[in-house]
Amino acid sequence: MAFPTSLPGARSVNTVQGPLQYECLGITDAHNHMWIEPVPDADPSAPVLDQFNLILKELIEYREKGGKTLLDCQPEGCGRDGNQLLALSKVSKVNLIACTGFHRKKYYPQNYWFWRAGAQKVCDFLCSELENGLFETLETTSPIKAGFIKIALESTWADCPHAALEGAASAALNSKALMEIHTEKGALAEKTCIYFMDLGLLPNQLVLCHVDKRPDPGLHKELAHLGVLLEYDTFYRPKYDPSANLWPLIEQMVNAGFSDRVALATDMAEAELYHHIGGGAGLASLPGEIQDQLNKKGFPENARKQMLGGNIARRLAGIN
Ligand SMILES: [Zn+2]
Repeated sequence: MAFPTSLPGARSVNTVQGPLQYECLGITDAHNHMWIEPVPDADPSAPVLDQFNLILKELIEYREKGGKTLLDCQPEGCGRDGNQLLALSKVSKVNLIACTGFHRKKYYPQNYWFWRAGAQKVCDFLCSELENGLFETLETTSPIKAGFIKIALESTWADCPHAALEGAASAALNSKALMEIHTEKGALAEKTCIYFMDLGLLPNQLVLCHVDKRPDPGLHKELAHLGVLLEYDTFYRPKYDPSANLWPLIEQMVNAGFSDRVALATDMAEAELYHHIGGGAGLASLPGEIQDQLNKKGFPENARKQMLGGNIARRLAGIN
């Protein structure tokens, strides 16, 4: 049966250059970082990505390999700059989608206001960035709307910022926005799904990030069965042995009929993963080498398209 291309109530996706129909997103990296300003006072391990011309070069290569869109997962306060994302998108002609939300506490300046705020204040801030524009772009001639919510979990539930989680849940409920959830190597994946679904979020609003660092196929199938999207990104992280873990996991998920529950990404927050900055695989590896591998391994065309952008695009637009 052919699905209608636009269901009633379906929304377009907010890119930094404005709204775009989800069918136009093409090959999409579901979790990456295109700009991170240095953050005074943050943990010394906090990544920095601020070499405009080199980042631009990678984005142009991404487009030349067939990539069309990337999600930027750096929220306000820990190095995001929507104005730089806009400039990069305009020159490279690649769609970038910015986020609102919060990252791990260690990436922020000491005493950042967010960690003292109540749930309502967090919700209001996130909703404003989704509806009116990113904080740092409000005074410009073209405020940029966030296209999704990104939040971060710690390794244990007790260490997670509970007011911020509650505020993000309300913002997602009000706005129907997609929520990408950073997990610490897949920890709390089950718990967090139950938490947000109990608060009324739909499973297709939830993306569990970096869960391939916990490559238990039984767990992944259970989570997929719930309806959440699983984001995999250890292709270029040798310590997670992707050929022994990630690639067989993708195969198992596709064979089990869950290619509609997987989104691929390269999450290159660390500058050494960028090709022109650190000699790494670079942004173009998703439409390049990774896509080539998917072809070579004989994954069906539909499954490849879903994992390389189709799944995340539909969910960004609020379509199951
Ligand atoms: Zn990330």
